[in-house]
Amino acid sequence: MEITEVRISLREHEGRRLKSYATVTFDNSFVVRNIKVIEGNNGLFVAMPARKVKQFCPRCGKKVEMGSKYCSNCGAQIPPPKESVQNRQSIHQDLAHPINQQFRDYLQSKVLDAYHDKKKMASQEEAPQQQSDEQQQVQEESKDEESIPSSE
Ligand SMILES: [Zn+2]
Repeated sequence: MEITEVRISLREHEGRRLKSYATVTFDNSFVVRNIKVIEGNNGLFVAMPARKVKQFCPRCGKKVEMGSKYCSNCGAQIPPPKESVQNRQSIHQDLAHPINQQFRDYLQSKVLDAYHDKKKMASQEEAPQQQSDEQQQVQEESKDEESIPSSE
């Protein structure tokens, strides 16, 4: 399977570990959104879209946050999660992910390459060029329009 397109949307704020979102197209026919580029302790890595796994109260059946000791609805004691689900990987369940190391590496390198390209382009756009200034102005104007509430 080939990765045929990677779209990067930078989300860079100082001190944030989330650096960017990526939308990846496979074989020109399947798209996965919400892939993330995250600054980890050992450098950048790619995280697949995930959902938080919830626990359920054994007495009333309401959802409780993973790791809660008591049910916020009925106060029943929640048994501690099994050791196997105490790490992040099983609290956050991937919704779509590669199932072998080879494809995981391929995906990660494609996404990180696209991320670095996008960053390079973004820093070039910051350079004073009349054309890019105009573009930026247009972008800012349209942003303003969006933020004005339609009170009329
Ligand atoms: Zn309960």
